[in-house]
Amino acid sequence: MTPVTFDDTTHEFLEAVENMSHAGLNRCWHCLACSGGCPFSRDMDVLPNAVIRMIQFGMKAQVLGCSTIWLCVGCNTCSVECPNAVDIAAIMDALRQTAIREGAPIAEPGILEFHNQVVDSISRHGRTHKLEIMMRYKLAERDLFSDIDLGLRMLSKRKLDLLPSKVSDKKAVQALFRLGGELS
Ligand code: SF4
Ligand code: SF4
Repeated sequence: MTPVTFDDTTHEFLEAVENMSHAGLNRCWHCLACSGGCPFSRDMDVLPNAVIRMIQFGMKAQVLGCSTIWLCVGCNTCSVECPNAVDIAAIMDALRQTAIREGAPIAEPGILEFHNQVVDSISRHGRTHKLEIMMRYKLAERDLFSDIDLGLRMLSKRKLDLLPSKVSDKKAVQALFRLGGELS
């Protein structure tokens, strides 16, 4: 195995993630509590604590290219479990933003597409319109029929509204999106 060497690039990546997340990742002592508590760790290619270790080693390409950062749903279970108050969910968020901004290969493109559809729905209606999100996502993925039984069952139980419900002050929501665009 190639020995890990530490140079300016190693620290640059670590500092960039820390500046974005304010997560305190250097407090991690690799006790594994976060990975043990994560409800999605079974499906991840790199455990959450190992993501932190890889950041500390400056393994930027591997971290940005792993599926873990996309499978993380930001539930905060890990952050609550951590004895050193490392905000792992914020680290994952910073890594997703960095991967998109730097054009890194996205390990789970379907998840990013779904995320984009949810954000787009909120920007237009001020709320999520689940039926529209599902249809747009399915169209983008060119997979119209695989979940049609589930969709029809949800419709029959009135779990999906045909028309979007909108917030009264849509302009305020759109102003927030504009502000977010300026700040990012
Ligand atoms: S729970 Fe906290 S200290 Fe333990 S491995 Fe995870 S981040 Fe590190
Ligand atoms: S925030 Fe992400 S990494 Fe942490 S427990 Fe939830 S899914 Fe797992």
